[in-house]
Amino acid sequence: MSDSAKSHYGDESPIAAFATTPGNSALTLIRCSGKDSIELVSSVFSPEKIKDAAGNTVIHGWIIADNNKIDEVLASVFRSPKSYTGENSLDICCHGGAAAGIAVMTALKNAGFRDALPGEFTFRAFMNGKLDLTRSESVMELVSAKTEIGRRHAVSRLMGSLEKEIGEIKQRLVQVLAAAEIYLDYSEDEISADSDEAAGRLPNKEIAVEALKRLKKLSASWQLERIYQEGVKLVIAGRPNAGKSSLFNSLLKEDRSIVNELPGTTRDWIEAFVSINGIPVRLVDTAGLRETSDSVEKIGVERSRKLLQEADVVVYLIDGTQGFTKEDSAECEIWNGKKPVIFLWNKCDLALPPKPFPKADIHPVCVSAKTGVGLEELFSAIGSNLPKHDESSAAALGTERQKKLVDTACFALEEALVMAEREEPLDLIAPLLREAVNSLGEMTGEISTADILEEMFSRFCVGK
Ligand code: GDP
Repeated sequence: MSDSAKSHYGDESPIAAFATTPGNSALTLIRCSGKDSIELVSSVFSPEKIKDAAGNTVIHGWIIADNNKIDEVLASVFRSPKSYTGENSLDICCHGGAAAGIAVMTALKNAGFRDALPGEFTFRAFMNGKLDLTRSESVMELVSAKTEIGRRHAVSRLMGSLEKEIGEIKQRLVQVLAAAEIYLDYSEDEISADSDEAAGRLPNKEIAVEALKRLKKLSASWQLERIYQEGVKLVIAGRPNAGKSSLFNSLLKEDRSIVNELPGTTRDWIEAFVSINGIPVRLVDTAGLRETSDSVEKIGVERSRKLLQEADVVVYLIDGTQGFTKEDSAECEIWNGKKPVIFLWNKCDLALPPKPFPKADIHPVCVSAKTGVGLEELFSAIGSNLPKHDESSAAALGTERQKKLVDTACFALEEALVMAEREEPLDLIAPLLREAVNSLGEMTGEISTADILEEMFSRFCVGK
């Protein structure tokens, strides 16, 4: 059985992992954490004084194996509880390259460390009360942030903006729930006759209404946050041969998709990231849209339609040499008004659009995917169709998991308020309030199960 098959989150064994990718770099960082980790490193370290090193100090020395010097390193020593994981831990900075880090790691494993599981350092930080779950997740968001805005927002969550907001909302809901439950726990003659509870009304209803408003704002924040993390999905569509692949390549400035004169060559779709106005954009080149009897091409066209449905922005190409056809007109009817669509008149080096344009509500941007004419205009049209940067410092959601839990809380609270409006009995309303409170508790990790935690942290990278 391999080490990682035996080990599991939650044991206290000493763990080690590369925090950087061993390879062509000047330095490699190896993290170690756990009970006896300082003593274990000391057993392969010269000089031995690392054993007595104070926390937050850096010790220079050598990693030794079988009386041989393996590598000259710097070891940062952290003593519990003042460390990332809350345990005794060390960051060993050794030389980069393919061999040094691996030799040091081998020495550490021979000394008694096991390979860390994905996210296990952050898991231990969570278990030791160093981070709540929203802040744990923000560590991963930060590591995978693709843009400056994504980084800024992840840092805000790491500093606790979301934890604080959820904590405040939860505290208010607990206040409402407690008042309702007290009423349920006492007999009617123990409650003041003119109180809300005695009249069968939900006490502190206005607090619940305010909490719902804050939760809905958080839920809505995910749309933009998802875009900062995953990118805006920009789908290039049009009839076969309109120049979609040529445009995709021009935008990427590299030859990624096949450009061919035979209609229907991009049978599947192809995707790449570009950054426009600081926002990551996922460019998707699709198969040409047309009626076809070819069964393979048909699948491509169906996929294109699905991608168009999922798109945040559509760029629709009209083949200038063919003019604005009946098919183009039919496609415009489908997408225009439903989502942001930028119409392009392509091949303007060969043919210009008629004036006036046959469809009065369409003002296509003239481009030539071949010569690059009009691409600047296209970039600014894309820019103006992207969501605006949210410069506010308001708390926002960072993961799909958080979005689901906030929505569960919203749903339960909304239902509770509708029932309260109808003056339904408090013993029917209280469980809904409890559900909302529990969802928020699950979000920060106050309420968690081993399964949930394992599922969550296993999606992290090793060494975090
Ligand atoms: P797709 O089927 O829509 O992906 O079209 P392609 O990008 O494969 O282009 C089809 C043909 O049109 C190719 O021969 C391209 O070189 C040509 N083409 C694409 N854009 C332009 C353009 O702006 N000007 C000219 N002259 N030819 C173009």
